[in-house]
Amino acid sequence: MTSGTVPVHTTRWRGFSLPELDELLRRNRPSSTIEELLCPHCGHHSLRTYLHGADRGDIPMTLTHFWCPDCRHYAGWPAPRQQGFWFSDPLAETSWSRFLSLSRSEDVFFETLDELWANTELPQQVQYH
Ligand SMILES: [Zn+2]
Repeated sequence: MTSGTVPVHTTRWRGFSLPELDELLRRNRPSSTIEELLCPHCGHHSLRTYLHGADRGDIPMTLTHFWCPDCRHYAGWPAPRQQGFWFSDPLAETSWSRFLSLSRSEDVFFETLDELWANTELPQQVQYH
């Protein structure tokens, strides 16, 4: 790519539809490795996963993000963290306010995650104790 060229994305980020989300949730079973999955929207093997820890009051939470760079569909939701569940996080040192402002723009957020994926800082390592 020529320097100074801004990549033009004509497709805006969109949330998965409810049936697509349903399909994601149904196969969202614990696994010891995170890898690219089948995207419920475009059917490409390009669906990526990112987990981020967050504490809501005294309850440790895990934010799960799914996104597909191919068709630019995504989903994200919080859930209470399972006991004994550990994952590496290249954004662990990012403050909560910084993380929020990052994730407020889908363009910035998923671009950041795709860069981490290209750097091999993602996908994350996960462990169950
Ligand atoms: Zn897709």
